[in-house]
Amino acid sequence: MSNGFSAIIAGGGFGGLAAATALAQRGWSVTIFERQAQLRAQGSGIYIWENGLRILDALGVKALAADAFHGRAMEQRDSSGRVLEPGELPPGIRLVTVDRSTLLASLKEAALAAGVQIRTGCEVLGASASGELQFAGARREQADLAIGADGVWSAVRRTLGLEQFHQQTDEGALRAIIPGTQKELGPNGQGKYLECWSGNRRLLITPLDAKRIYLALTCQTDDIRGKASPLDHGTWCESFPAWAHLIDRVEEVLPWAQYSIVKVRAWSAGHTALIGDAAHAQPPHLGQGGGMSMQTGLALAHYLEGLKDRRDIPARLAAWEAGERELAEHCQRWSCLYGEVSILPDEVRHRVLKHGFGDDWVRRQILRAAGSQPTGTRA
Ligand SMILES: Cc1cc2nc3c(=O)[nH]c(=O)nc-3n(C[C@H](O)[C@H](O)[C@H](O)COP(=O)(O)OP(=O)(O)OC[C@H]3O[C@@H](n4cnc5c(N)ncnc54)[C@H](O)[C@@H]3O)c2cc1C
Repeated sequence: MSNGFSAIIAGGGFGGLAAATALAQRGWSVTIFERQAQLRAQGSGIYIWENGLRILDALGVKALAADAFHGRAMEQRDSSGRVLEPGELPPGIRLVTVDRSTLLASLKEAALAAGVQIRTGCEVLGASASGELQFAGARREQADLAIGADGVWSAVRRTLGLEQFHQQTDEGALRAIIPGTQKELGPNGQGKYLECWSGNRRLLITPLDAKRIYLALTCQTDDIRGKASPLDHGTWCESFPAWAHLIDRVEEVLPWAQYSIVKVRAWSAGHTALIGDAAHAQPPHLGQGGGMSMQTGLALAHYLEGLKDRRDIPARLAAWEAGERELAEHCQRWSCLYGEVSILPDEVRHRVLKHGFGDDWVRRQILRAAGSQPTGTRA
């Protein structure tokens, strides 16, 4: 039933769709303005940790195919296949991989079912703190709440003057989905995600389902052959000879994507809020950027529950930030720290992975968001 309040959202990615659905399910009238001609996910596979799965459940999103891959370990290996750290996941923390387009389509379906309006081909040029989004031709839309869920280059963040910094890291990734089965990961590789290291390069091997494998090939910005697309098969097979049978199978690769780190002065100004990468973009090493986008989006709707007077929105947004920001930034910090491992010499990295990542306290920090109970989900 309608609660009489309205929200407008810039961006129909994971964060925007999660926030829109959660608000609409609580009675808000919600419209998403998406720049692309249709909702489209950029990327290939995506990791969803326990926290993300709980959020999808709370939103009523069915994104997992029957044969979606549930790994039991994130194993670290060197280029010769030697195991550096077995990375067994603790009981109670699930990790699943799906392809991005499936996740986005499922989120969209849930949003539409909740009554969200989605307008595509609408680029938001700016926002003001009064709950306003601005478009070409001096067109404006006004609501009780406006949300910038418009990703790392957020126009909403920029025009609200909330950006503290946006830094691009020296590392980035090529991504591809290839046909393949778990059997091809060898007798010791099945049921696992395999993170393999060679010099400053990394190959992340992730089964997606019974027939497909997602590969992420990461390297530094000055690695010209490494980041080339179409993929330079020869140079990657040289770095990871044990996986040449998979690398050789890459036909199409997404252009090298450099990672971003975003920090903002505040998550909102007046009646306008920022969620997801627009507020707290992080390198993908913990596989939590999308999870955190959905988490802050769902939490936002939760903190606005029971609202009676639109004048209370700024205070509710401040409470939301006070409750949620620390965890999002914890993830961001640990993801950045994890990324630094890639620039270590091989032998030093081996010791760091073994003694650092093998340490209980460190693992708890890395898995803290995954093991968290997202606000708005049931224990
Ligand atoms: C290589 C790589 C691997 C990753 N792997 C994982 C992973 O395994 N697990 C995980 O959880 N996260 C992962 N991430 C991070 C994840 O992709 C992001 O954190 C997530 O997509 C952020 O969601 P979002 O909704 O905030 O932003 P986005 O997904 O970027 O969505 C923003 C939306 O806004 C639209 N938009 C942009 N500007 C405008 C505008 N001006 N007006 C209107 N619309 C606009 C865009 O078209 C887009 O649809 C990875 C990232 C990278 C780079």
